[in-house]
Amino acid sequence: MRIIIFGAPGAGKGTQAKIIAPKFNIPHISTGDILRKAAENKTTLGLKAEGIMKKGELVPNDIMLNLINDRLVQKDCEKGFILDGFPRTVTQAIELERIFAKLRLENILLVNIKINHEEIIKRLTERMACSSCGNIFNFNEIRKTDKCPSCEMLGTLYQRPDDKEVIIKKRLDVYENDTKPILKYYQSKKNIISVDGRNSVEDITHEILSKLNMVQNKLFYNNIEG
Ligand code: AMP
Repeated sequence: MRIIIFGAPGAGKGTQAKIIAPKFNIPHISTGDILRKAAENKTTLGLKAEGIMKKGELVPNDIMLNLINDRLVQKDCEKGFILDGFPRTVTQAIELERIFAKLRLENILLVNIKINHEEIIKRLTERMACSSCGNIFNFNEIRKTDKCPSCEMLGTLYQRPDDKEVIIKKRLDVYENDTKPILKYYQSKKNIISVDGRNSVEDITHEILSKLNMVQNKLFYNNIEG
C-alpha cells in the first residue's frame, strides 16, 4: 500500500494517515512532523526550516527531496507508506516519480481529501496539537484543558505557530498556487481517489478504506473522482 495523502492544510491528512497507517502496518511519513521535530532538536535542517514554517512558506525543494529520499530507503518502507505533506510542489511530484522509479516502486495512489477554505480556517484556528503524541484536537471539544486527553505521556496541548489566521491564509495561498496543480499531474497518471473532507473523521476513514479496497480488488480502477 503506497499512498500519498493529499489536501489543503487542515483537510485532515494527518488525522486520517494516523488512523490508516496502522491498519496496513505501514509508516506514516509526515514531512511537517519531521521538520517540527528537527526544529525542536535544533538540527541544521530544523534551524533552516523553522523560520520558513512560521511564515507559512515552503521549505526549498532540494532540502525536502533529500529528506524524503533518505526516508523512503529505510527498511520500514518496504511494505508501503503513507506520505503526508509531500509532494507539495509539481517539482517535488516529478522528482518523487524519479525516486519511485529508482526504488522500483509501483502502484502509488493519491488520496485527495476535498474541503473548502472557509471550513479549513475554522478548523485550524480551533486546532490544538499534543506536544507528545502529535494527536490533534478541537479546542472547543476538549473543554479548554491543556493536557492531552489521549496521551499516556500526558503531553501538553499547544497551538501550532502556523495555525494563526493570517498564516493560515498564507498557507492556503501557497496551497492554491504551488500545491494544488499537483492534482493535474496525477490526474494524467490516473491514480487518484477523492473523498469528501467535510464529513466526520470516521466517515472519511470509511470512505478512504472502502475506495482503497475497491482499487485493490480492481472493482473500479483509476481516477476515482467524486
Ligand atoms: P504540515 O504539517 O504538513 O502542514 O507542514 C508544515 C510546514 O512544513 C509547511 O507549511 C511547510 O513550511 C513545511 N513543509 C512540510 N512539508 C513540506 C514540503 N513537502 N515542501 C516544503 N515545505 C514543507
